[in-house]
Amino acid sequence: MNILVINCGSSSLKYQLIDTNSKSVLAKGLCERIGIEGSKLTHEPVGKDELIVEKPMKDHQVAVDMVMKALLDAQYGVIKDISEISAVGHRVVHGSKYYSDPVQINEDVKKVIKDSSDFSPLHNPANLIGIEACEKAMPNIPHVAVFDTAFHQTMPEKAFIYAIPYEYYEKYNIRRYGFHGTSHSYVSKKVLELSGLDPNNSKIIVAHLGNGASITAVQNGKCVDTSMGLTPLEGLIMGTRSGDIDAGVLQYIAHKEGMDIDELLNMLNKKSGMLGLSGISSDFRDVRKAADEGNHRAEVASEAFVYRVAKYIGSYVAAMNGVDAIAFTAGVGENDGAKRAEICEYLGYLGIQLDDKQINVRGEEALISTPDSKVKVYAIPTNEELSIAQQTFALINK
Ligand code: ADP
Repeated sequence: MNILVINCGSSSLKYQLIDTNSKSVLAKGLCERIGIEGSKLTHEPVGKDELIVEKPMKDHQVAVDMVMKALLDAQYGVIKDISEISAVGHRVVHGSKYYSDPVQINEDVKKVIKDSSDFSPLHNPANLIGIEACEKAMPNIPHVAVFDTAFHQTMPEKAFIYAIPYEYYEKYNIRRYGFHGTSHSYVSKKVLELSGLDPNNSKIIVAHLGNGASITAVQNGKCVDTSMGLTPLEGLIMGTRSGDIDAGVLQYIAHKEGMDIDELLNMLNKKSGMLGLSGISSDFRDVRKAADEGNHRAEVASEAFVYRVAKYIGSYVAAMNGVDAIAFTAGVGENDGAKRAEICEYLGYLGIQLDDKQINVRGEEALISTPDSKVKVYAIPTNEELSIAQQTFALINK
């Protein structure tokens, strides 16, 4: 069955057409600069030449129509008729407290996505625009929302509650939600598959380390804690985000620099993390290179990143009273053997021993700990699109 997976940003739209039977990608692509000058579609059909169309896309509807045309194109297409697409799976960032599973989209679901925009002002409105554009282009098939927050809905209240007056939780649903849920769910299930652990008696920590980074404690297949919060700002040090910070810092900088709360949040989201610390780049490879050349700020950024990840792993071992397996995923987790080793150096007390021959694997599923390591450590490429396609398939075939 072919499922079209859509991931819509405010000026971009990423897509993959996936055959869920063979788990293979038929085509994928990206519309960039939607609504601004220089719009471009890059369409990559598997086994055929790439197609690039540079043409104005005044809105997401135009973008979706161009994607459909590319998928059906005689030369660059991968399907002959629109009926070959059985459903569309939409990545939606925030499902608030309402959705712990994928859901078929109707007017009520759209209202929740809209109402959750307060928590995710950059993503949810864009996700909704993408949904409505796809509904117009493909009115006769199911459209399914798969939420980034869903996997984390099993967190107990002690883990998701902020220690601020309880009325803010009651009045506004202010609590921790967590993100990257599709990735954490996919990777933790892969760990169960690869390790042979009993799903009902397992303690797994998944470290999703990319430009955005988060870490999750998964006990018996269910998320019991995760590092991101109401928004993706909390937790680990990321490409441009600070992660955890004393809120008092904000008041101090606000007074000194005359910044308002929106400017401060922009600083924490876009100018902090690896970029802010190193002053060089948000990209971990650039920072690594500068650190290797002796740049002090880049060294501090790299060390602080690793240290924060190790501290979180320690706290999740405490949260679950143990750990059976740790998995690294996303850009850094999948590819950077040195970072994985640096993090695991802090974890010797758990009896972790890395396998020197495996530690530097890149972009493949691998056990990177030795057979006698007390905790199994994996590198596992995440595949959010495949997971969205599979969850969409499962829902419509219920
Ligand atoms: P996101 O999806 O959050 O934008 P990714 O998961 O693609 O991010 O991760 C991007 C990060 O992964 C970049 O900072 C990049 O430097 C890092 N990365 C990618 N490949 C490597 C590699 N081979 N070695 C080290 N870091 C890498």
